[in-house]
Amino acid sequence: MFETISLMAWLAAASGTPVPAVDPLTQPITTSRSAEWLAPVPPEKIYGNGYLVGFGGMSVALIDTGDGLVLIDGALPQAAPAILANIRTLGFDPRDIKFILSTEPHFDHAGGLAALARDTGATVVASARGAEGLKSGRHAADDPQLAFGGSWPAVTTPMRVMNDGEVMTLGKTAITAHATPGHTMGSMSWSWQACEGKRCKVIVFASSLNPVSADDYRFSSPAGAPFVAGFAQSYRTMVALSCDILISAHPDNAGEGRYRADPGACRAYADRSREALAKRLAAEKTK
Ligand SMILES: [Zn+2]
Repeated sequence: MFETISLMAWLAAASGTPVPAVDPLTQPITTSRSAEWLAPVPPEKIYGNGYLVGFGGMSVALIDTGDGLVLIDGALPQAAPAILANIRTLGFDPRDIKFILSTEPHFDHAGGLAALARDTGATVVASARGAEGLKSGRHAADDPQLAFGGSWPAVTTPMRVMNDGEVMTLGKTAITAHATPGHTMGSMSWSWQACEGKRCKVIVFASSLNPVSADDYRFSSPAGAPFVAGFAQSYRTMVALSCDILISAHPDNAGEGRYRADPGACRAYADRSREALAKRLAAEKTK
């Protein structure tokens, strides 16, 4: 072992390149669902400037603004190289990514952000609470999933905070931030207009609205009240959104397929969460 390290160190010194090491930002986080989430699927164009560069059970979107690229979400840490490869397969250069928008500070959607920001030079964008979580790489103290524990690579590069309703304009594209709290208090959904000729459609990338928690947590407790109110706010927002195409952070939370182009997809997405939360609150009463 000593000889191997010495040889590598000598080679590195001789060539001027750093010793190849294990990349701390892409070390796998493995759960019972991670393989299913990261099932490989080819990257595809959705409509106009909108593309999917993620996986079978985990959405990652790419927007070609005409003046740089914008990525939405980073999946798990080990997913970063595949996301970059998918972007190259579509003919884009990952170094043209200017911003990476985050939907929530959890390992499955944000674990890859640190590696992606490092490898592309892009600025990570999130809500204020979202950015706090991304900086810590851990659940917030009030997160319903706090007791699950664990951590993921923290974003250490400068971030940009966007508030509810704020618009980021890049090239010909305006991207609007929509606060959609409930699953986490920092959850944010994003929408933009994608055009083909004169025909334009609004694409919504919705954060997870899944009312899940660690085992002993109660949404019906005082600590859960802001989350229940957050979900209610998110349902109002989703229902009111102009929404021709819906991409949900976990595609299976919206039904079949990688995205939905049916009218009412955002309303249906809110309804599914509303029903799940109602069931959850009813079940808590019997415990
Ligand atoms: Zn989550």
